[in-house]
Amino acid sequence: MLTQIGIAAAFGDNSEEPLTVDQLSHRPNVDVLRSIVDKYRPDLAVYEGFYRQVHQDPEVSGMELNTAAVVARHLRKLEFEVHTGIGGHGVAAVFHNGQGKTILMRAELDALPILEETDLPYKSTKRMVDRYGNERPVMHACGHDMNMASLLGTSALLKAAARKWSGTLVIIFQPDEEETGGAQAMVDDGLYTKVPVPDIMLGQHVVPSKSGTVAIRSGPVLVAADSANVKITGGPCPGVNPQQCVDPIPVAIKIISQLEYKVRKNVGPHEDVTVACWGFHAGIPGNDYIAYAEFSLDIKTAKHTVREKARQTIKRSIIDGCTAAKTPREPVVNFTVRAPLTTNDPSVSEAVGRVFAGYFEANAVEMRFTRACEDFSTLGKKHSVPYAYWNFGGSQTTEGPVPTNHSPFFAPAIQPTLQTGTDAMALAALSFLVI
Ligand SMILES: [Zn+2]
Ligand SMILES: [Zn+2]
Repeated sequence: MLTQIGIAAAFGDNSEEPLTVDQLSHRPNVDVLRSIVDKYRPDLAVYEGFYRQVHQDPEVSGMELNTAAVVARHLRKLEFEVHTGIGGHGVAAVFHNGQGKTILMRAELDALPILEETDLPYKSTKRMVDRYGNERPVMHACGHDMNMASLLGTSALLKAAARKWSGTLVIIFQPDEEETGGAQAMVDDGLYTKVPVPDIMLGQHVVPSKSGTVAIRSGPVLVAADSANVKITGGPCPGVNPQQCVDPIPVAIKIISQLEYKVRKNVGPHEDVTVACWGFHAGIPGNDYIAYAEFSLDIKTAKHTVREKARQTIKRSIIDGCTAAKTPREPVVNFTVRAPLTTNDPSVSEAVGRVFAGYFEANAVEMRFTRACEDFSTLGKKHSVPYAYWNFGGSQTTEGPVPTNHSPFFAPAIQPTLQTGTDAMALAALSFLVI
């Protein structure tokens, strides 16, 4: 716990009034935070070793058994209270350190079914059977290995610096992020019966911008992604005369080809929305007429209002298309949420942004809104936990084409990327803990 003198010294406040935790969290003194981070940063060689190990032994979504075990071992060494097997292979660790806010920090455990094409000495050559029974190559092509190494580095730093702050840490290693099911699975599996509900959540992701940089902004940072599964039924075929049937294939193709235009027209030309067809299947082999056409849509939007309008427009267009074609049955349209909109809380992200600007100086930049999606916010949805999510750079160079996340050539430079990720997460947490 901080004494009153300590508070004044840490936050440069000369007033007589005691500062509240809320006031503290929004006016952290960067020099004080810098001194803690510099003094207590662990030997990052340990986490570089972890990074190489996990990079060489990636596991696809839902199958993160070994990765979860390695992570849990590191957290137990730090003497955190460790819970495993939450929502699949999810790991949650708690460190109670006196009065103050509860800060949740999250990284992802899973890799992608991609064949690595880098020439790194620690490249993955692994193949494994995924949860659907298919044998696939596996690669940490999204950089979750770097996100994990950084979060372990941060956990060690904050543990070593425990006498300098008070509050509670909740460290989450989430499974199944790439298919955006893991956050909900952890919540549904009783995450918050094992760990306290956080006051603030923090998440970060390595991206192909310059290593050593961080990028944050207030408001929307990642899109919402919805799926729609549609079934259009053909027929009727009196006397099994195919030439008299309503053929669902041209009906479906006509609907799909007009969808994006109709949605854009309805939401307005300046709104961010994409509608793409990701799958199409029609008919039953052996039948002499096409009984049905099924297709799936991927819908990405950047605002709640646009998302609702897009969904309504899509449903209306499909129903109208089928009515006009006189299909014998109403179409079936099922929407599912792949990932909610990721929108940074203004006060949390501005507080973190100010600390980043003071610490990283010119290497702290404004984050760009991207069409990637995430399920990070799902961890706090039920309790409306405010959060900040930011990016940190991993590329040695930004000249010429740089492989992006999900590329078979994606290869973050281990340093200074790892130190940047470690420091950024520690600084963000310390911004809200009592110093
Ligand atoms: Zn990814
Ligand atoms: Zn990712």
